[in-house]
Amino acid sequence: MPFRHLAYSLYACNSNMFNMRGSAGLSTGAGVVRHCSSSNSDSTNKAENETPIALPPTKKLAIVTCMDARINPFTQLGIKPGEAHIIRNAGGMARDALRSLVISQRLLGTREIAVYHHTGCGMATFSKPYLRTLITDDLRDDDKQSTGRMVDEMDFLEWPGVSSNSLSSTITTLSSTSATKSNQLSGSTRELESPLLASLKSEVNFLRTHPLIMRETIVSGWVWDVGKEEAIRII
Ligand SMILES: [Zn+2]
Repeated sequence: MPFRHLAYSLYACNSNMFNMRGSAGLSTGAGVVRHCSSSNSDSTNKAENETPIALPPTKKLAIVTCMDARINPFTQLGIKPGEAHIIRNAGGMARDALRSLVISQRLLGTREIAVYHHTGCGMATFSKPYLRTLITDDLRDDDKQSTGRMVDEMDFLEWPGVSSNSLSSTITTLSSTSATKSNQLSGSTRELESPLLASLKSEVNFLRTHPLIMRETIVSGWVWDVGKEEAIRII
């Protein structure tokens, strides 16, 4: 399974976009993209002999998930390229994915959405004040003010219940949640109130009630347990 994922990623790396950038004179002498491009000749040749994949997802499914490099919805959820839209952002936030979801549904026929969070997510490691300090710390006073204002105006969609003072306890809660299955979670108030699950429930509810999401849409919430390498349906 990891090899299938690798081949798919490398295929993406070797798209025409990267080749065009190279020919336009921008530097391709360093970085991972060059490595991806040169490593992909086998999968490119193989793709030429295969039936082209149709544009609309065959399972009429859209998955909203985190950009975390450990998340591979194809292998983890057992789907193939061409079967589902994969919309990724920090945290797998449905609110951040709304524009893509509307296009996915109205133009490309998807009728089911899976929100796919995971344990150990970076979203549990920051609050907005912390991020603001991180961004503005080294700036001059003038820049600090204007850049800080930009940060203030941007919605980073922080997870509920995460604050600078509670980060260590949040991470502890996450690691204990990761070892628990959905049927065991149902009776646990503490785990249901963890930032991870609170966010998942919030994002699923957001989609279920949003007027731009089609009424008949099936919306579910899933967690990838990074430690146990297991996908668990929560909602
Ligand atoms: Zn994440």
